[in-house]
Amino acid sequence: MRQTKMPRQLLIPMIATLAVALGMFLISSASYAIEPRPLCPQCRRFIDSSPTRVHALLEIDGRERSLDVCSVFCLCECLDNRPKAELKHAQILSYNAYLDGQQTYLRARLAYFLYNADGNEEVTAAPFVYAFASREDALAAQQELNGEVLEWNEVLNRCMKLAEEYEAKRPQYQRLKKRKRPESSD
Ligand SMILES: [Zn+2]
Repeated sequence: MRQTKMPRQLLIPMIATLAVALGMFLISSASYAIEPRPLCPQCRRFIDSSPTRVHALLEIDGRERSLDVCSVFCLCECLDNRPKAELKHAQILSYNAYLDGQQTYLRARLAYFLYNADGNEEVTAAPFVYAFASREDALAAQQELNGEVLEWNEVLNRCMKLAEEYEAKRPQYQRLKKRKRPESSD
């Protein structure tokens, strides 16, 4: 009868190789698990794919806390839900940098915006607000994206009003105490 059994001296290295491969697979899966893509805390969209993402600094009870959200609207919802939070600083992704695959953020107070422009609700929350380094850049993009060219305080006021109206329609989030409008210093 022909010998079909694998020689024992080959079996042990094979099992060892399989064990090492399985270990490497588990380690690589685990590293994915501990580095999830950041989600917008307000709407659960992926922040790293939003063309309108915002990095903000809030002060709550004297302590500074950074906040990353997909959009100005989600920033305003966060502020509306946290009556004690003051907006200290906001930076918004430059839309032109985003188109080039870069991650350059603009200081909100110095940027120009296309407000309520065309966009994709799968990647960011409406109204779509794109940021530009100059008024000329905003006007150029307006040809394609529509919307209204505005400065930061007006964008913030309009989004805050929308967020307050949106939250007021949700009974579980209605509050007796109204927060004062955010004044960003930068
Ligand atoms: Zn969001």
